[in-house]
This record gives sequence, C-alpha cells and structure tokens, in this order.
Amino acid sequence: MPKKPLLPASNLKRMIGFVREFSSNQLHLLLNNMQKMKRILITGAAGFLGSHLCDRFINEGYHVIGMDNLITGDLKNIEHLFKLEHFEFYHHDITKFVHIPGKLDYILHFASPASPIDYLKIPIQTLKVGSLGTHNLLGLARVKKARILIASTSEVYGDPLVHPQTEEYYGNVNTIGPRGVYDEAKRFQESITMAYHTFHGVETRIVRIFNTYGPRMRLNDGRVIPAFIGQAIRGEDLTIFGDGMQTRSFCYVDDQVEGIFRLLHSDYVYPVNIGNPDEITIKDFAEEIIKLTGTSQKVVYHPLPINDPLQRQPDTTKAKELLGWEAKVNRAEGMKITYDYFKSLSKEELSKEEHKDFSKYIF
Ligand code: NAD
Repeated sequence: MPKKPLLPASNLKRMIGFVREFSSNQLHLLLNNMQKMKRILITGAAGFLGSHLCDRFINEGYHVIGMDNLITGDLKNIEHLFKLEHFEFYHHDITKFVHIPGKLDYILHFASPASPIDYLKIPIQTLKVGSLGTHNLLGLARVKKARILIASTSEVYGDPLVHPQTEEYYGNVNTIGPRGVYDEAKRFQESITMAYHTFHGVETRIVRIFNTYGPRMRLNDGRVIPAFIGQAIRGEDLTIFGDGMQTRSFCYVDDQVEGIFRLLHSDYVYPVNIGNPDEITIKDFAEEIIKLTGTSQKVVYHPLPINDPLQRQPDTTKAKELLGWEAKVNRAEGMKITYDYFKSLSKEELSKEEHKDFSKYIF
C-alpha cells in the first residue's frame, strides 16, 4: 500500500514558500543591520584599557574587531567576548602591515607597552609600535575613511615644569633617558597623527591619558597601584621609590573610557587630557593602601629611578568644556573595586614574580 504523505502537497508547497520568504526577509534584515552597525577596530584589545574599551563598544552596539600580539596583554581579559557574534579577534603585530576586510568606521589605537617595567624591557618594540604601528593604522584609516583615535599619554609632558599640565605645554622629556623610548614614541605618534590629518584629511583624535587604574591591570608591571596592592596581599613591605613626595593623579578606568568615548564622537582634532585631577603624594597613597588592605607591613624607601616625573596632575578644562566630561569615581570607590579584583586572583597568580616573559620578543 502506498504510504500516506505526512502533509498534503498543497500544505507542503505553502510551507516551503513561507520558509523561503522568511529566510530571505531575515537575511535582508541581517544584512541591513550589518550595514548600519558601526565597525570599530581596537588595537591593544587584550590589554588593560583595550579590553575595557571592547566591553564598552560592544555594549553600545558596535561590531568590535580586537587586535593584539599579546606582548603585554592577556586573552583572559577578553575571553568573555569570544562567544559574542559581534566580536572578532586578530592575533597580530601591528608593526606589520594591517589589513581588515570590509568596512571600518572607527579605529582606537591602544597597542603599546604602557608600564615602565615593560618599556624598559622591550624598548625597541615600544618605539616600533608607536612609530611603525601608528603609521600602519593611519594608512588603514585613510584607505577605509575611518576616524582614528590614538592613545597618547601624560608622559609626553615628561618631568613637567608646568603644573597642572595643560595641553598647550610642550613638555620636558629627555630623549635619550631610559623612559625616552616611550615618551618619544608617543610624541612621534602625535606628530604623525596630526600630519595625516592636515596632509591627507584623515579624521583624527588624540587623547592624552593620565594614570588610569582598575580591574585587569597586571600585577608586577611596575605601576604603583598593582605594585602596592600586590605587595600588601602577599604580606610584603610597600616599596616607595624616592622620598614619596612625588605626586600622581589616578583616574578610574570607567571614567577614562567615558572620556575616550566622548572624544571619539566629538569633532575636536587636537590633544585632550583625560585624567582625574585629584592629586596625591605617593607617600600618602601608600598610607591609603595600608588602610584599605589592612596590612601590617611598613613602607620601605628605594632610590628614585632616572627621569621619574616628580609631579603629575592633569588640567582637564578642555575635557570639561569640549566634552562635558569630568571624572566621577573617587579614589576610595575605585580602589575598593580594584582591590576586590586583585583579591579574586588565584594564589598562584598573586605569588608570581614575573607576569610576562618577553624573551621571544628580544631580537
Ligand atoms: P597594556 O600593556 O595593558 O595594553 C597594551 C596592549 O597592547 C597589550 O595587550 C599588548 O599586548 C598590546 N600590544 C603592544 N604592542 C603591540 C603590537 N606591536 N601589536 C599588537 N598589539 C600590541 O597597557 P594599557 O595600560 O592598557 O595601555 C593601553 C594604551 O593606553 C597604551 O597605548 C598606553 O600608552 C596608553 N596609556 C595608558 C595609560 C594607563 O594609565 N593605563 C596612561 C597613558 C597612556
């Protein structure tokens, strides 16, 4: 006996038609959304700031393309993003030619060793990423007609003779000192960025970032906050370099990311300081860490490294006037979140003396 069809032929035809129509509509919608969705390339995506920027732009509905060679960064910082449809990652050294298929609306160039220990260990790579790397990305921005924002630094002011530092101050940098590799790479980065703007008409933005902190900073990278917290958690004395009277102003990462987000979407092409002007001496800051962590350790003093800046405080008038931005998170709040992050790390991670092996990059 012939088998009865599961569905009458007419129903089956209607269903096939419906599926076809449904898929083509869906496809159309998807393509439409993809066209409308802004695509942003973030270099240094696996680093401290880069990873927070990836989070922010994903949350704002962008398609985020992260790029990093992992020289100082860690995939752990972005592994939560890998499952998302609108995140992709390229393991790539940006000092080599950079290609991204498809359209690109924005580039955030954040790849660079950023802590004194890192750039003293890998000085040539630091110079190359600021110069060759920036050149590659400006070329990409030009071809794609994308707007590019580059991460500069308060270090362009060197050991400043003007206080607080305004964007008009030209800086006081020792080109051949140990920190010169970072400071001069960033100064070159600003110059070539302005040249691409004036000569090629590329849409550029420059943020001068002052000391920023928060979760995902790397322990033992030479920056004072992870250094103090790491020492306190491990039950070691807190090391101050110099007499502790040098000052720093610490900006919580969420504030920094907000400032960068606003600057990218502004029409201002000259450098803008983003940082928290709340200045503190390193000695007082060590006392705050002792209170926060409840450690019974003491403070020990070591000689000040060459060319270590003695004072650091951003003048953020421009950021306020142009972007309506100012830092909102006070140090007590931000440090509490940061301390909780470091406490959550494994014992093994906390006890490591070296958190990065640069041997394969030394050539
Ligand atoms: P980070 O070391 O955590 O991140 C930098 C990232 O860049 C790392 O993931 C690293 O692997 C990647 N990278 C380095 N060279 C690369 C290359 N050639 N190709 C591809 N990827 C490369 O540092 P961070 O604190 O997140 O700093 C990010 C940016 O912000 C840097 O440009 C830094 O100069 C700037 N900045 C940061 C601060 C701060 O307080 N955190 C202050 C001033 C400026």
